[in-house]
Amino acid sequence: MRRLHARYPFLRASREAVQDAEVDLGQLVTEGGPAVERGRERVERALLAGTVASEGRSSTRAELLSYPVARVLVSLLDTPGAVAKYANAEAALAHARFTEDFDDDAQLKSTDRERLSLDRLLADFDLSGQVRPTGEGEFLVDVTAYLKLASALEGERWRLVARELHDGVVPVRRPELYTLLREAVRRRVADDLPLSVPEGVADALAGQVRTLKDAVADVELRATPDVVEPELFPPCVKALLERAPDLDRRGRFALVSFLAGLDVDTQDVLAFYGVETESDADSVEYQFERLADSRGAAFPPPACATMQAFDLCVDRDEVCADIGHPVTYYAERVERAGVAVDADAGTADGD
Ligand code: SF4
Repeated sequence: MRRLHARYPFLRASREAVQDAEVDLGQLVTEGGPAVERGRERVERALLAGTVASEGRSSTRAELLSYPVARVLVSLLDTPGAVAKYANAEAALAHARFTEDFDDDAQLKSTDRERLSLDRLLADFDLSGQVRPTGEGEFLVDVTAYLKLASALEGERWRLVARELHDGVVPVRRPELYTLLREAVRRRVADDLPLSVPEGVADALAGQVRTLKDAVADVELRATPDVVEPELFPPCVKALLERAPDLDRRGRFALVSFLAGLDVDTQDVLAFYGVETESDADSVEYQFERLADSRGAAFPPPACATMQAFDLCVDRDEVCADIGHPVTYYAERVERAGVAVDADAGTADGD
């Protein structure tokens, strides 16, 4: 198994690498281990964060085998929209990776990792004869292939009436070709999903499926309270706030994405952070506004399982035992505080 296969597990060559390794999926999921964990992470991150990029490191073998595991898990989830979100997230990561590889290739950058070439990706999708470079940063795409790939893309600019069409080919710029290839990946990933999963495999993955369902349910149920009561924040968030100026990338994302879902403005966030230097303020402000723009939808804060994996889950209390997401914790505490006030008022009224 090669690193290239692990980076691009949807390639035919990667599938063949898995077959050549004669891995028994049933045995793999029964034994558990890094590939199964990473498979769960793939699906969870796809549904909650819109990416399947790992937050940790895994071996080439675990990374490659996690892909078929993730396909099985997303099939077992039986959650509306899960397959579409998962396929989009796989395609988004592939797009980021092949863009990097192609650009490094074009600039003849030296690197010790094997890169995917544009020719190879086109060949893998049977597009070699249907996409030709013009030598001016443009490509001519056979109209049949263009229509197939562009039909599901958002935006009028992808409609054929908005494009030039000469002799059965559509000129596209390089970034547009990459978008079309991302769409090709998305289609391949979504192909055949959901799978029909043998009972033994489904039983072996029941625990992972439950964890995923809890994580998704937490997000669906999550109605981020529009009050800011820092004393009701979950213990992990309080700990992050205390260390705010010194957080690493993961800690900062966890904190800022949590705050971005609340009804707080940038100045409140800077006050939370206690930032002193202008450059710190700029960096926090930029990240917060980027996340707040999406109101937490595109970049929700990490679930408890992820927080635990990165040692960010600290000082757990009794509320933590019943929830799977820091935002759910906060919603629960706010609700409990509200219920207490209402109950008091009700008692007073009754008197
Ligand atoms: S269990 Fe969840 S909410 Fe509680 S401290 Fe850990 S990460 Fe935070």
